Amino acid sequence: MSPEALVHAASLRKVYGAGDAAVTALVDATFTVSRGDRIALVGPSGSGKSTLLHLMAGLDIPSEGTIEWPAIGPITALRPGPVSFAFQGPSLLPPLTVVENVALPLLLAGEGEAAAASAAREMLMRFDIGNIADRLPEEISGGQSQRAGLARAIVGRPRLVLADEPTGQLDHETAALVMAGLLATLDDVGAATVVATHDLSVAAVFPVRWTISVGTLTTEVAPSLV
Ligand code: ADP
Ligand code: MG
Repeated sequence: MSPEALVHAASLRKVYGAGDAAVTALVDATFTVSRGDRIALVGPSGSGKSTLLHLMAGLDIPSEGTIEWPAIGPITALRPGPVSFAFQGPSLLPPLTVVENVALPLLLAGEGEAAAASAAREMLMRFDIGNIADRLPEEISGGQSQRAGLARAIVGRPRLVLADEPTGQLDHETAALVMAGLLATLDDVGAATVVATHDLSVAAVFPVRWTISVGTLTTEVAPSLV
């Protein structure tokens, strides 16, 4: 395995619950995410996308199999900093304005307030939502909130950005534009990404597509099949 690999997993299985209530969400997943990868993880609702992203982020642990972050270090080294996550649901902190939310990773990393706020505003502009920087999360739309979540995931210049259905509240056209903006920003930051989506027009923006179906991951898919 290359020491450059950001994530390397072998035979991952994830089972939620136990006994009669057990749900197998992921079966025998083996994969590597390398520097510079831009991967769309495509599958219908309930196929295991969030489960897989949570494991890649070290937010959950597998029931079986191994997962490592060779280029980063042990699971405790993933945050804050190298691995960031844009969650599927609302995740902005309600008492903070949008720009304060986006500045948080920089403040946690020890940056001064003025520099953090200015970098956060710039990142919001990249996602075309500079105009809502001073609003509270309750004063913006679901789509704007998702874009702010992406801005917050990238502002700290992580090495791997994991985004869980980041365009679920956007129309297809805006979704594809936001994803193109995401990829351009990732190029500038030098980060790899895995983006879970069930939207094929979003997946089409990515050079690599992995598919997942009832917990089974396929990492080699002919472009014509998706
Ligand atoms: P996706 O993100 O593709 O919609 P998920 O990873 O959320 O899929 O879910 C995969 C499967 O695992 C589904 O059958 C789902 O109901 C189940 N699941 C997810 N989280 C839990 C949990 N905390 N407890 C029990 N079952 C879960
Ligand atoms: Mg999900």
